[in-house]
Amino acid sequence: STTYNFCAGPAMLPQAVMKKAQGELLDWNGLGTSVMEISHRSKEFIALTDQAETDLRELMSIPENYHVLFMHGGGRGQFSAVVNNFLGENGKALYLVSGSWSRSAVDEAIKLTSDAQIDTLDLLVNDNGISAVSIPELAGKATDYRYLHYCPNETVDGIEIVEEINCPWPIVADMSSNIMSREIDVSKFGLIYAGAQKNIGPSGLSIVIVRDDMLKMPSLPQSSIMDYRLAVKHGSMYNTPPTFAWYLAAEVFKWLKVSGGVAAMAKTNAKKAELLYDFIDGSDFYNNTVSAQNRSLMNVIFYLENEDNNADFLAEASRAGLVALKGHRSVGGMRASIYNAMPIEGVEKLVEFMKGFADKYQA
Ligand code: PLP
Repeated sequence: STTYNFCAGPAMLPQAVMKKAQGELLDWNGLGTSVMEISHRSKEFIALTDQAETDLRELMSIPENYHVLFMHGGGRGQFSAVVNNFLGENGKALYLVSGSWSRSAVDEAIKLTSDAQIDTLDLLVNDNGISAVSIPELAGKATDYRYLHYCPNETVDGIEIVEEINCPWPIVADMSSNIMSREIDVSKFGLIYAGAQKNIGPSGLSIVIVRDDMLKMPSLPQSSIMDYRLAVKHGSMYNTPPTFAWYLAAEVFKWLKVSGGVAAMAKTNAKKAELLYDFIDGSDFYNNTVSAQNRSLMNVIFYLENEDNNADFLAEASRAGLVALKGHRSVGGMRASIYNAMPIEGVEKLVEFMKGFADKYQA
């Protein structure tokens, strides 16, 4: 029977893509060799990367004045790349904190610069055990920040910020766990980055979408492979890129296009999340601790009222083909990550299982 994988990342990839990749693993593009074994500078691979960029630009409606980069180092690689590329000796940046990944980005930024260069704003408010995000008025702030950094989807905490951030500085967004899950206006951002291993492809790769004027900011001395200007100049091939991850990302983009693009994903993602949150809200066996307006469509966290049942829940779910539901070690409980590749049937099966488990274990 089918296994549904709810891992937060590396996450389930579209089954159609995996089957296609399996079919051409040993003989890609009629070359008699796998895509992993050919030069990244070969005309076949360059055709692949050109198509990948074209498809991503179409999927996200990326304006002409933005560069699309395929880089190494996942999400965390970009925590440092952003600082090294944009802050220079004296620049300041404002970091919004809404959960564990945005906090990690702050730690990295301070490590590479100083406390004096990094201002933070904690957005989290807790009302009777329910977390919500509250964004203060930013437009009138006098400081001339080089950029504002935030994480619109906190993978660990299950918190998503949907509202637009209004501020006078370029916005840098860590969209590792919600890129292409809903439509966004790229022109509102100075830079968007995402580790690939949730909605894009295998881990290691990261996608960077950067407005060209951002590249004029003074940078700090840094390793060449994380330098945006060099990446632009060399078509993301200053050094050997993660070619297999890039290939699979290209296949995911094709799959997204034939599946109706980001608008179609957004519709299904909203349905999937609603199914799960509605069930949790209607049950006194399970609960969620995020306010309705900040509940993530991608990472649904929930707790069993009686946490003594956690181990049984995970074991029985696994036997039913519902795997990787354990919450992040820092917050405990459960987490169902339901990225683009998770079909609605997977969520239906999870809800059915949760219902049955509650009936069996309810005191
Ligand atoms: N940012 C977010 C929102 C994430 O969810 C993750 C990983 O799960 C990261 C950054 C770090 O990504 P990586 O492990 O690829 O460095």
